[in-house]
Amino acid sequence: MQITPHIMDIARRTVDIILPPQSLLTGSLEAGAIESDIWGEVTFLDEPCCYICGFPFEFDEGSFALCGRCSIKKPAYDMGRAGFKYDDISRSLVLGFKHGGRTEGLKIFAAHMRRAGRTVLKDADYLVPVPLHLTRRVKRRYNQSALLARALSKISAPAFDPDILMRHRATSSQGGRSAASRRRNVQGAFSVREPALPRLKDANIVLIDDVMTTGATLEACARTLKRAGAAKVCALTLARVVKAAPLPT
Ligand SMILES: [Zn+2]
Repeated sequence: MQITPHIMDIARRTVDIILPPQSLLTGSLEAGAIESDIWGEVTFLDEPCCYICGFPFEFDEGSFALCGRCSIKKPAYDMGRAGFKYDDISRSLVLGFKHGGRTEGLKIFAAHMRRAGRTVLKDADYLVPVPLHLTRRVKRRYNQSALLARALSKISAPAFDPDILMRHRATSSQGGRSAASRRRNVQGAFSVREPALPRLKDANIVLIDDVMTTGATLEACARTLKRAGAAKVCALTLARVVKAAPLPT
């Protein structure tokens, strides 16, 4: 069964009817959105940061400074940026959106992704959401990455294109896995749809996802897109885990 964008729209509207707008954190009906004081608790990400992966720096170390991880081994994507830090505060925002059908924060989410991702969005051709496998998409009713990418395309230049990349193999959840296990779990899970190959050649792609944890999923997608001819693949997520690299032993 092919789920078209039209069916996705209907599914999303149905979700809105079942789950009326609520505060993403408290669930209170009267707020109808995310309370402004909650945003005061969220740690937004911006420069100064690692030029490649966007890891936030406390001090400005120069435009092209790299974090410890990227200095040792560059990721498969060219650059990565995220709107805010994934922590105890923002977890509720993200999980409410991802699993609770609470899409009322989308416009604000997209605005923060545009702010944090201005460098990667410049000159990009397509916003490509990290795809879900069909079985999970049906179960979850929507792909949260596609909703983010579509909302972002409305306020930025690159075109929303959910038809380039597919997840042909169902993968189990990345939650609770080590970095190495996450890499193995998504290895070979993605492929490029045949009709997308001509427009992918030499294209500048921005991958869109909700959270970057170790980056394993985004790296698997980036490798797939580059093998198929993309010139540049960046990653832009709503949130990211900010964890310093362990010190060498
Ligand atoms: Zn880095």
